[in-house]
Amino acid sequence: MFTLVESLYSNEILDRPDLGCAMLIAACQARGIKTTLIKGQTTYLKDIFIDESEELWDILRELKDADLRKIGILEYKESFAGKDMKQFCVELKGLYGCSIDDKNPRRYFNGLEMKRFHILYNIFMSAYYYCLEELKSNKSRMVDNYVRRIRETNPRYIGFSLQFKFDSFSRAIRKRVKESLGIPIIAGGSLSPFIDLKNIDKILKKEYFDYLIVGPGEFALPRLIEALAAGREPVGIGNVYYARNGRIKGSGLEVINNLDSLPYPDFSQFDLDLYPVPERVLPIQSARGCSWGRCAFCSFHKINAGRHKILSADNFIATLAYLSNKYRCHFFTLNQEELTVEQAGIISKALLGGNLKNINISSAARLEKGYDNASLLRLMRKAGFIQLQWGVESASQRVLDAMRKGTNTRVMSRILKKSSQCGISNICFIFFGFPGETKVEARHTVAYLKKYARYIDDIYCGTFILTPYSPVGQNPSRWNVEICNPAGYTVKSGMNPKEVSIFYARFLKEIAMNNIKVSSGRLICLYPGNSRVTAHFLSSGHGMVLSEVALKCLARKRLNRIFPVLPGEFRKRGGDFVWRAENTMESIFINEHFPEKENTLDSLEEKMFLLSDGTMSIKDIDLIVRDGVRSYHSKKRLRDKCIGFFRKIFSRNLGMAFAAPWRAG
Ligand code: SF4
Repeated sequence: MFTLVESLYSNEILDRPDLGCAMLIAACQARGIKTTLIKGQTTYLKDIFIDESEELWDILRELKDADLRKIGILEYKESFAGKDMKQFCVELKGLYGCSIDDKNPRRYFNGLEMKRFHILYNIFMSAYYYCLEELKSNKSRMVDNYVRRIRETNPRYIGFSLQFKFDSFSRAIRKRVKESLGIPIIAGGSLSPFIDLKNIDKILKKEYFDYLIVGPGEFALPRLIEALAAGREPVGIGNVYYARNGRIKGSGLEVINNLDSLPYPDFSQFDLDLYPVPERVLPIQSARGCSWGRCAFCSFHKINAGRHKILSADNFIATLAYLSNKYRCHFFTLNQEELTVEQAGIISKALLGGNLKNINISSAARLEKGYDNASLLRLMRKAGFIQLQWGVESASQRVLDAMRKGTNTRVMSRILKKSSQCGISNICFIFFGFPGETKVEARHTVAYLKKYARYIDDIYCGTFILTPYSPVGQNPSRWNVEICNPAGYTVKSGMNPKEVSIFYARFLKEIAMNNIKVSSGRLICLYPGNSRVTAHFLSSGHGMVLSEVALKCLARKRLNRIFPVLPGEFRKRGGDFVWRAENTMESIFINEHFPEKENTLDSLEEKMFLLSDGTMSIKDIDLIVRDGVRSYHSKKRLRDKCIGFFRKIFSRNLGMAFAAPWRAG
């Protein structure tokens, strides 16, 4: 009866399903509304890389160099130039197979292959959207496919989840649905709080939908569908906006204060194994909103209107247990703005007091004083908080104060150190170019990262973005910002936006060249961004250790302590087995442009290499290799060879070492 279309746009490949849609499905089903999900990324990735790759080929061939330059993908032209369509499609299919279907950690940690996958995705997104938006192309098999899928669900009402922006792909689908099905179209999602309600009548027309749900939809959506089913106008339903007889109608915002009243998220209709990760990762919430809510650059807290709301610890644990059992999942990310110190302590104690085992959690947290507490961080680590994502933003106290971040650099340093020493993987968010930030202050942040690199597993960085709903956007003069159209700004002091991008580009280049070290270096060989943050999360859950630790274990003959993964390309050439390794402590740029020499492996090494996919320890590998050998001397010789092989690998940083096994791919 109701069909829900998951978001059809993301500027990065996502590695988990959408929590908002799972909550809406559960809320509708709880009210007896049969709801069918039309999947977003897992379906369109398959379209791009397999079913409709010929369409992508046509699009790329039709675009002129000027178009490619305009959308910033001219430099990637060689990845499709010099090939024919068949080769291109075979390559895409192969990449999809390696990145999505193959759950072997060896594939997952193959930085160069994953990079190709991400780049082709970006090429597609840029080219496809350019055709829809700029070239006004209206023939698209991908759009046709989605319209057909929607039609097959026989919907009476349809909802579209909008996450990042009004994207032309889902707009094209809504247009076709409106023209061909003529059913009420509802839109909502994390974009909704940022939609200008004063102009909602124009937006409804331009974006092809009839009703907008602003903010949380768990109450509003089922009530709206019930009203429509009863032929009633949805008067008085909080968060719902629409137009009638040229007038905008809406009953204001309704905040969901009691999170315990919501059902468990329903992920049963998602393709949980079609994300580019070797293990399932599910999003969950223990709270909504942000207890701080003052940062001058931020508008995230606007998504969950009203005060900070929390789920009771009992309910949170029950939800975790339910999801873990139902979906065989052990990795959960808290999909929320922050985890307060108080809630972190309560949840950790509850987790340790319950029967839930083998749960790993990643969460964002604010570097507030309360986290400067080793006992709390130890407790959290023990309970399963293996990754914390901190909003460092800058290491200049003046800039932090100007941002109204409410953090202190000395406290921040202590937290990062303690958290790392407790075994938690620290991910730090930073950005350059907050209005007024000088080059000296930005350099100070870089120096800070270098100083504390060993406590930081990774950074997630960018430049300041002026968003209209942030305090700076609402009151620019207070931060000496002048808005100039279209969508630009200037500053009266500090670096201007152009200087910021130059500074940032240099910073990224220095990291890529391994000239500066701003993190521990673990997984630096992988494609940066969100996917690498998840790779850290999964790796921490499997007890990733640095090569020197693996070497110590080998020296002490503790072969059962190390589960090796040897990534890199390998193939048979003539009678030889050739492995082109990737240096795990070098950046992806270095691995690409200054590749390791090829290793030709003998038959025994080949066997050990193929067994090194994270699912078995060196001891198991050694036992398999020696299986059937009877003489003591031969056994000893083989064992020495096995240890020697792995010693050579870890001393050259060509492999990854984990303290716990990965599940078989
Ligand atoms: S940046 Fe984070 S801590 Fe600051 S207001 Fe936004 S959500 Fe809250």
